Amino acid sequence: MLKWVIVGGGIQGITVASFLLKKKKTSTNQLRIIDPNPNPLDNWKRCTSSISMPHLRSPSVHHIDTEPFSLQSFSKKEHKYHPNTDFYGRYKRPSLEMFNDHCDHLMEELDIPQSYVASKVKNIEKKDGYWRVHLQSGEVLETEKVVIAIGISDQLHLPDWSKDLKQDHPNSLYHVFDKDLPLLESMIAPFIIIGGGITATHLAIKLASLFPGEVTMLKRHPFRVHDFDSNPEWLGPKRRQPFVQIKDYEKRRKTIRAARHKGSIPSELRNRLSHLVRTEKLKIEDGTVKDYKVQPNKVELFLDNGESIIGGTILLATGFEQGLPGREWLEPVIKQENLPCAKCGYPIVNNMLEWAPNLFVSGALAELEVGPIARNISGARVAANIISSI
Ligand SMILES: Cc1cc2nc3c(=O)[nH]c(=O)nc-3n(C[C@H](O)[C@H](O)[C@H](O)COP(=O)(O)OP(=O)(O)OC[C@H]3O[C@@H](n4cnc5c(N)ncnc54)[C@H](O)[C@@H]3O)c2cc1C
Repeated sequence: MLKWVIVGGGIQGITVASFLLKKKKTSTNQLRIIDPNPNPLDNWKRCTSSISMPHLRSPSVHHIDTEPFSLQSFSKKEHKYHPNTDFYGRYKRPSLEMFNDHCDHLMEELDIPQSYVASKVKNIEKKDGYWRVHLQSGEVLETEKVVIAIGISDQLHLPDWSKDLKQDHPNSLYHVFDKDLPLLESMIAPFIIIGGGITATHLAIKLASLFPGEVTMLKRHPFRVHDFDSNPEWLGPKRRQPFVQIKDYEKRRKTIRAARHKGSIPSELRNRLSHLVRTEKLKIEDGTVKDYKVQPNKVELFLDNGESIIGGTILLATGFEQGLPGREWLEPVIKQENLPCAKCGYPIVNNMLEWAPNLFVSGALAELEVGPIARNISGARVAANIISSI
């Protein structure tokens, strides 16, 4: 019998694993982390590298280890990082390379690959006081406790108009987080990036350096400039305390929506875009796509303002669907185990993030308890801290 099974080996799942192991709540023998990717954090590494994000948006104290200054100590020990370039600006945003090295170092130190099982969970059921976790491989794991730490990054959001285009002309349009995204260098210029948030911005900066003058960023709203994707007060009790006292879960959902600076970018990235526009490496247009016409090696997009733009490849930086992650296998589990959910479909959990006795959630699934930061690294730390204090 295992002690813990964590479903999902992304930032959320690995942070929970790291906290459980560091706090000696379990050992690698008694822990399994299930994820269909070959290695832990593969989704995170793929998404962040496809847009060549140089630095994280979050500060250096947000990482997967228990001690807040672990990343800073790691950088000093390794000697290969530079305080000015690897810790950006006044929030000391870590470089992606250093952040990932720190994750790899910690996972090796804790022997996390030993607990990692590359498969998908397809069902969880309660049996005689313990949990049976059914894997796609046919294996069934028996465990005392389960943490569901799956994220929303498997459910890409495609605007309606783009779905037919993708189906009929698959090489003319991609979501930037497509698992089989070809090399950008192999795509047909000019490029149209759909989106005005941080992903679109990183992608625009990358493409403008690869294909200067051949990139247009098409966005629906003026830039929303915020340092973080929600007010940092959400990290502490000032905002979270009143939030968890709200009894009505629809109100909690509304509070989360209002608190998130959706599609926002930090000021330094806004400045970089302005520079690229001034030097004619990038064009920025405002408008919403209404229709399209396909020509040989080109697609013409018709906008609501009467204008049109022509591109060789369209790249969607339109984020993820916001609905319940893992719906196809979780909905039957919700029915079978009688798990409480709010109107938005998301779990109602107690203050220990328990959905049912010994069944915990973190990340997106925990957001009605953790609040708007739940999906971020800071939210992973909050959830991991709570779960590992059991
Ligand atoms: C480009 C980008 C940059 C970001 N930058 C930051 C940042 O700087 N700071 C910050 O705080 N946040 C950032 N975020 C937000 C957030 O921290 C990341 O999205 C993070 O990866 C979320 O972690 P996760 O574990 O929820 O999701 P994921 O990394 O997607 O991991 C979830 C895992 O669950 C697995 N899974 C799904 N279903 C099953 C199943 N049935 N069985 C087993 N496994 C399953 C998936 O395969 C996946 O590997 C960023 C997000 C993106 C996309």
